Amino acid sequence: MDRGAGRFAPSPTGPLHLGSLLTATASWLDARARGDAWYVRIDDLDTPRNRPGATDSILASLDCHGLHWDGPVRYQSARIAVYERALADLAARGCVFFCSCSRRTVGSQRIYAGNCRARRAPTPDCSIRMRVDEVAVDFDDLVCGHRYEVLAETVGDFVLRRRDGIIAYPLATAVDDGAGEITRVIRGRDLLASTAAQLLVIDRLGLTRPAYGHVPIVVNTAGQKLSKQTHAAPLDPSRPLANLRLVLEALGSPAAAAPAGTSTELLAAATGTWSIDHLPATDPVAPS
Ligand code: GLU
Repeated sequence: MDRGAGRFAPSPTGPLHLGSLLTATASWLDARARGDAWYVRIDDLDTPRNRPGATDSILASLDCHGLHWDGPVRYQSARIAVYERALADLAARGCVFFCSCSRRTVGSQRIYAGNCRARRAPTPDCSIRMRVDEVAVDFDDLVCGHRYEVLAETVGDFVLRRRDGIIAYPLATAVDDGAGEITRVIRGRDLLASTAAQLLVIDRLGLTRPAYGHVPIVVNTAGQKLSKQTHAAPLDPSRPLANLRLVLEALGSPAAAAPAGTSTELLAAATGTWSIDHLPATDPVAPS
């Protein structure tokens, strides 16, 4: 069988914190334990949210924790033409419509009410939405088990290209993850809810579904996901081994306390014992 591949796909909105290190480590271990490749993709399409220096800081942080990647780093900003072609393809298949609703109109709707569903031609400043019919999407998550979702009831017609012209996350990530090269997407459980929409895009474009595994996310003592918004502390680059031990413990790895003088040695021990079955059922809480 061909060699598979995993990937870590951070948005360059700030430095890595313990939560993003956990996701990166889980994905890295899963790939390395299988002898797969592991790629880093920078999800930098949402330019207003990008922070100067964040990509360099993320890459330096991965490197200093021994999470070395294969091949060149990929940048979504370099692939806009590919996403535009996918959008044109979806349009040709009748899967999209043009939406001129203002943010104010749709902001209060939990699920988009479908005002513009009949719009087949663009208007100035319109977004492009995926037409979500009553289809169910199902998949077997490697960690969370079987999932079944009727997108019309959970998400509705979701945005593929925003009014400001920016390609939205479900389209870009589906095109990249569905291109056939990535075989396993191991990422945080907060993204479980966005998977069915990505699978719908993958299926409609006739792309290849990777397997998905959504791992626990690190939360703070208030139960909130560690993130820039919740003021998560950046990783201290002077203690990579201690950071990795915390993360391995949170992943239920028997190697968390293994003797190791370097990150690389500790990761080697963790690779040898990696199993999705060790993951805890509940989200680990970051030390305060
Ligand atoms: N770029 C997304 C984020 O940082 C993650 C994308 C993904 O893993 O699918 O939240």
